[in-house]
Amino acid sequence: MATMNPRRKSLSVTVGNVTIGGTAPIVVQSMTNTDTADIDGTVAQIKALARAGSELVRVTVNNDESAAAVPHIRERLDRAGIRTPIVGDFHFNGHKLLKEHPACAQALGKLRINPGNVGRGSKRDPQFAEMIETACRYDKPVRIGVNWGSLDSDLLTRMMDSNSKLAEPLPAIEVMREAIVISALASAERAVELGLGADKIVISAKVSGVQDLIAVYSNLAARCSFPLHLGLTEAGMGSKGIVASTAAMGVLLQQGIGDTIRVSLTPEPNGDRTQEVIVAQEILQTMGLRAFIPMVIACPGCGRTTSTYFQELAQKIQGHIRHRMPEWRKQRQGVEDMTVAVMGCVVNGPGESKHANIGISLPGTGEHPVAPVYEDGEKTVTLKGGRIAEEFQEMVERYIERTYAPISAAAAIATPAAPEPMAS
Ligand code: SF4
Repeated sequence: MATMNPRRKSLSVTVGNVTIGGTAPIVVQSMTNTDTADIDGTVAQIKALARAGSELVRVTVNNDESAAAVPHIRERLDRAGIRTPIVGDFHFNGHKLLKEHPACAQALGKLRINPGNVGRGSKRDPQFAEMIETACRYDKPVRIGVNWGSLDSDLLTRMMDSNSKLAEPLPAIEVMREAIVISALASAERAVELGLGADKIVISAKVSGVQDLIAVYSNLAARCSFPLHLGLTEAGMGSKGIVASTAAMGVLLQQGIGDTIRVSLTPEPNGDRTQEVIVAQEILQTMGLRAFIPMVIACPGCGRTTSTYFQELAQKIQGHIRHRMPEWRKQRQGVEDMTVAVMGCVVNGPGESKHANIGISLPGTGEHPVAPVYEDGEKTVTLKGGRIAEEFQEMVERYIERTYAPISAAAAIATPAAPEPMAS
């Protein structure tokens, strides 16, 4: 069986109540798609993303209105008890917005700066410096976020010219990949020269091709110790976006590369933005890197499950767990490690259910219409009749109550009373 490489050693960067890199768990982040100037809409979406489990949420800060809205968004979140740091995404006019809206700089947890979009020609360096100086003034960490759709064109042109003069020029794609890495590393180095602590820098270098992403991040990981933000940019819609992101990030995470991830899915029109958070969590959880929510193990169904009953039950259980998890997370220690099996027939149903914490084996076509339930490997009851789904959900609730300690009691155990002073 393949084993996972140990996590690459990196500096750790603190963003509000979240740590990226070092020995911290890999952080899940997301980005809003509301107009940031729409305070109500943006607060509502950040709340939804945070509730789904996003640990950082990035917002676009592209004009005066959005920069002016940021402190109000922060205040509204604070009042609602949501501490999730907001990351400001700046391009082209970030230096100006940060200067003219100090309250925005103050309210943000982190600044994302794209070195390819801070200004052209002679404006580039001073505008980059202005943004870094703002980060230093407000003691904010920065993500140097290179994207090959907006790669520093001066740098790329210089590197392409030098390459063409070589006796054996490299393929253009390799020069492009190297330019992305150089842009990220040189910008980080410049930020340190300008006074930003090395422990205030996260790097990303996003591309839209799976093989390019793997090559670029493998190279970056070998050449620096900054924490790395992984993400396949413009991953796309639906299954294509999910598969491409998973394929690229799975390879890198398996090599121990990546300290925070974002899955850049294009939502369906009026689709749910929280899907990108769920996919990111599922990538980490299915790889055994973090646990966020009880896993539902469901068989795919086959000719033995000719009615839709089995799919409906699996969907109901999955939905119930996701809906209840925000409460369980606050109340029950370790509930995210639970596994729940929902199986379609007697072939693998009892076996898989016994391996799970709690599992149900539904009757396949032609089987006696009963559903045995297994808890911790033992058959405990057999459900029948029209309320199997509801009764099973109630059993899951009771299993959690008696298996996972209440958070307050667990916290008390984790914080033992101070020892008596020793006699001198
Ligand atoms: S457990 Fe039964 S219903 Fe599910 S895939 Fe296997 S044979 Fe088919």
